[in-house]
Amino acid sequence: MRIVVDRDKCEGLGMCEAMAHEFFELDDDDTMTVLDETPDEAHRSAVHAAVEACPVLALSLVE
Ligand code: SF4
Repeated sequence: MRIVVDRDKCEGLGMCEAMAHEFFELDDDDTMTVLDETPDEAHRSAVHAAVEACPVLALSLVE
């Protein structure tokens, strides 16, 4: 599984970080960085919750 970010949509709202801070990090400028683009299966539910939580649908998971 791989995390894909649509940078045109991301507004740095931080819901993804709140749901899975091991994988998403916002800096002081509200720029979001994906810390690990290829999470292992053990983290699927947390990453999926973060993807679902993004209010502007900027995140997706590719298998
Ligand atoms: S929740 Fe969505 S808009 Fe907010 S930082 Fe994450 S990807 Fe960007």
